[in-house]
Amino acid sequence: MYIHNITVLDEKHTCPDCKATMSCCEVPPVHVGDGLGWGSEVMFICLNDECPVFKGGWKKIDVNYGHKGSFRNMQLPGSTELNIMMVASKDAFTGSIVDPESMREQNERYKKEKKAVAALDTCVEQNDITPVMTLILDEAATPDGRKKAISLLKEFNNLSCIDPIRNHTFKNTEFEQACNLLIIQLLKDNFKKECPYCAEIIKAQAKKCLHCKADL
Ligand SMILES: [Zn+2]
Ligand SMILES: [Zn+2]
Repeated sequence: MYIHNITVLDEKHTCPDCKATMSCCEVPPVHVGDGLGWGSEVMFICLNDECPVFKGGWKKIDVNYGHKGSFRNMQLPGSTELNIMMVASKDAFTGSIVDPESMREQNERYKKEKKAVAALDTCVEQNDITPVMTLILDEAATPDGRKKAISLLKEFNNLSCIDPIRNHTFKNTEFEQACNLLIIQLLKDNFKKECPYCAEIIKAQAKKCLHCKADL
């Protein structure tokens, strides 16, 4: 999940009925036929089970609608206007509580990805391998951007890309294989090989590894 306006995470909302701090939650998916969404990515909900609105809600819903459910107080970011959400169970929304710290990290990652994707078109002529590597090593980045980054990697003829790729765990085996093939070509083009014992990059013709002294 990505929040466009990260400052909402700093907001403090207090339930007007029970004075508990309201929890920042992801908005539920828009119901079909509902039309409009909430116009926000998060909402603040009073998840205090002792809140009078929640405690008294069960009876109200039973009497008025004849089914099981209750209410929770809700406020949208940047507003103190009170909204009432109908909930079918005690646990509704508890699974969608947003952890501000992990949300901030995700946003940082997302921003880096966006920046890297935007730089792909010019990075080769500027001889800047950073955006390419950022995308290749970002498992959460969109596959299209990563694919493009991998296709650009060979343009750099830069052996420094080998170690980070070798040390990276790819979830996508297709990307991993594509990178491995590129590395093989890159080593070949530079008359190099990887020592089978210590993995250091050495001359293709070497009979003894310069680093681990192994006989090859
Ligand atoms: Zn409350
Ligand atoms: Zn070696």
